[in-house]
Amino acid sequence: MMGEANCIFCQIVAGKGEASVVYRDELVTAFMDVFPVNSGHTLVVPNEHSEGLDGVGEMVGGRIWAVGRRIALSFGQAGIRAEGANFFLANGAVAGQTVFHCHLHVIPRHSGDGFGFKHGVFSRGRPSRFELDEQARKLALQIG
Ligand code: AMP
Ligand code: ZN
Repeated sequence: MMGEANCIFCQIVAGKGEASVVYRDELVTAFMDVFPVNSGHTLVVPNEHSEGLDGVGEMVGGRIWAVGRRIALSFGQAGIRAEGANFFLANGAVAGQTVFHCHLHVIPRHSGDGFGFKHGVFSRGRPSRFELDEQARKLALQIG
């Protein structure tokens, strides 16, 4: 596992890396993304280093969600153009993760901004109910 020394987000959490901090508490820190998808794009990270979701428990994860929610609901009042918002979390390189300290993207959205899933709901296949039920059953067994 990477330590604080070579992780840019650990450096930001420690107050050593340059960042525009929105919020910090004992569990999480939120700061502006330096390459925003849209103006106001914010990241929320656990203070404790974890490359992926596996190291972020429900308590810290819940706080990340809670702070992300507050940020998303504040965009308008803060003068950021937002007709809506997306939460996005890339877990693993294959999912698009490029900074390996887990983080939630809070992205303000407005019509015509061009951001979104590459595969819209109408271009995806629809599995059979049997297949969906089987997946649901297997996942349910795992998550308890
Ligand atoms: P991801 O591809 O999900 O790992 O997202 C990484 C995000 O971190 C990207 O949106 C980058 O623009 C952003 N980023 C990288 N370095 C910094 C930094 N030093 N401060 C703020 N945001 C950063
Ligand atoms: Zn880190």
